[in-house]
Amino acid sequence: MAPTTSATGITWDLSDLYASPADPQLQTTLDAVQAEAEAFAQTYRGTINVPGGPAPKHLLEGLRRLETLYDQLGRPAVYAGLLFAGDTAKPENRNLEQQIEQRNMAIYNLVLFFHLEWLDLRAEDAQRLIAAESLAPYSYYLLNARKAVPHKLTEAEEKLVNEKDVTGNQAWVRLFTELTSSLEFPLELEGEKQALTLDAILTLMRHPDRNVRQKAFTTLYAVLETQSQTLAYIYNTLIQDKLMMDRLRNYSNPMQPRHLANQVPPEAVETMMEVVEQNYDIAQSYFRLKAKMLNLPKLEIYDQHAPLGEVAAHITYNAARDVILEAFAAFEPQFREIASLFYERNWIDAEVRPGKRGGGFCSGYPPSNHPYILVNYTDNMQDAMTVAHELGHGIHFWLARKQTLFNFDTSLPLAETASVFAEMIVFEHLLGQTQDKADKLALLCSKIQDIFSTVFRQNVLTRFEQAAFAGRAENRLTPEQLSECWLEANQRYYGTAVEQTKGYELGWSYIPHFIHTPFYCYSYVFGELLVLALYGKYREEGKAFIPRYVALLEAGGSQAPETLLKDLGFDLRDPAFWQLGFNEIRRLVAWAEELAAV
Ligand SMILES: [Zn+2]
Repeated sequence: MAPTTSATGITWDLSDLYASPADPQLQTTLDAVQAEAEAFAQTYRGTINVPGGPAPKHLLEGLRRLETLYDQLGRPAVYAGLLFAGDTAKPENRNLEQQIEQRNMAIYNLVLFFHLEWLDLRAEDAQRLIAAESLAPYSYYLLNARKAVPHKLTEAEEKLVNEKDVTGNQAWVRLFTELTSSLEFPLELEGEKQALTLDAILTLMRHPDRNVRQKAFTTLYAVLETQSQTLAYIYNTLIQDKLMMDRLRNYSNPMQPRHLANQVPPEAVETMMEVVEQNYDIAQSYFRLKAKMLNLPKLEIYDQHAPLGEVAAHITYNAARDVILEAFAAFEPQFREIASLFYERNWIDAEVRPGKRGGGFCSGYPPSNHPYILVNYTDNMQDAMTVAHELGHGIHFWLARKQTLFNFDTSLPLAETASVFAEMIVFEHLLGQTQDKADKLALLCSKIQDIFSTVFRQNVLTRFEQAAFAGRAENRLTPEQLSECWLEANQRYYGTAVEQTKGYELGWSYIPHFIHTPFYCYSYVFGELLVLALYGKYREEGKAFIPRYVALLEAGGSQAPETLLKDLGFDLRDPAFWQLGFNEIRRLVAWAEELAAV
């Protein structure tokens, strides 16, 4: 039985998509899209990759027809996906989702040639079309698609790589997942012997009792130690595999595929990382303050996330709604209006019920419809912040509906801008309302620590990956070498403010991002610093800033992040831009110091 909370009964209304899983419109949509896909193939197959390239008008009409087709194709899939998320235990939901996925794939395959022909077109012809005036609304989309061209293998090679990957790198990733999820961490808690999972023991690093944290830390690394040879071998093999594929695909360095996917210039990322390092001293002075607050001479690694007071205040769903809408209204009335739609028109599924997917998300596709939000609301402040976060996404999707489908989707570095910004608005609003000094300090410290985890720690992780890749290019990596890279990257961050407790040298060994998505971590740094810079601008300029921020959200994915941010007056390659975010972090830490001193 799921607990009854103040959100019980708050469920979404999906009837804007379809009336029910039995709605005949579902099949009607799919049949119509299939017929259109066949007609589209009849008209366009073999007409894009032609000598001299197609006429701009022909390409434009094709893109527009495809957008309409994808939009229609998206509706049944989104409906089935939301039904499934709402009740994953119902077999009919799973079946519907699989059925629709299969039909979607078949229809998608009918029109895939259009994209492939665009990629196969001679470079000069493609360039001419990208520059054509009539194709201007799609020029960034067309240009971005072509970025994959220099890194493609032949069709036969791609097929071979795909098949070999199943027993190659994917098998090593699976081994990592199976190994780390089967590990048991024996721990005596409250007089009871328990065998904890990795997730459960990591959660204990936030326990208020220092003895518990210390015991959990020791157990965590003692168990990891027994697996360190295997974990190092897995990581070493995956690095070697990636280095080989990068060479075959003509990538000049291991981070390049990620930069291309993120649509950001590599120089901007390097500049960002250097600025983060120049600001490690903020973290160190916060850690010294925290040691004082905990009455410790110095923090150990396992003290970093020790809670400072109680932040998990009780808050009902409706009270959270009122706070969020009030905070949004104070920022910009339009934000309140859009967020109100989600509440009034039942676009949010907030109750906790058996079978419902955990966590939270906002689904904004396709742009011709409106977004939906799923959260599991259990009456605490953290859940209220999750609602604010998802509403930020919702507002972003709503505003970006001005764009056509190919220009709608935000690139990854900007994908969390509106959501984290919305959290920031609500956080500052709450802070302003909190009278009690201890509560205020607890709220502030938890925000500061969240920011540190996103900005500083993810930067450390990226530096470690760089060092590991550089080391592997020379020879096979041992656990000791990986530990050395790890401690060195961490040392710069912690300085003399936090003791790198014995055992921590294996901190690299369980991080899933290193295994699943190499060099992903810097995207978090990018996203958070951008939000802090935007927030700093807002505090500096007040209302004058808002129209430019709205324009950024309305632009969706119609341009590269660098271009969109230039319109806001931000230069990603300038260290001063990245420093703006740290000014905000400094402000928050100074505030905490001031509150703690009294
Ligand atoms: Zn998010």
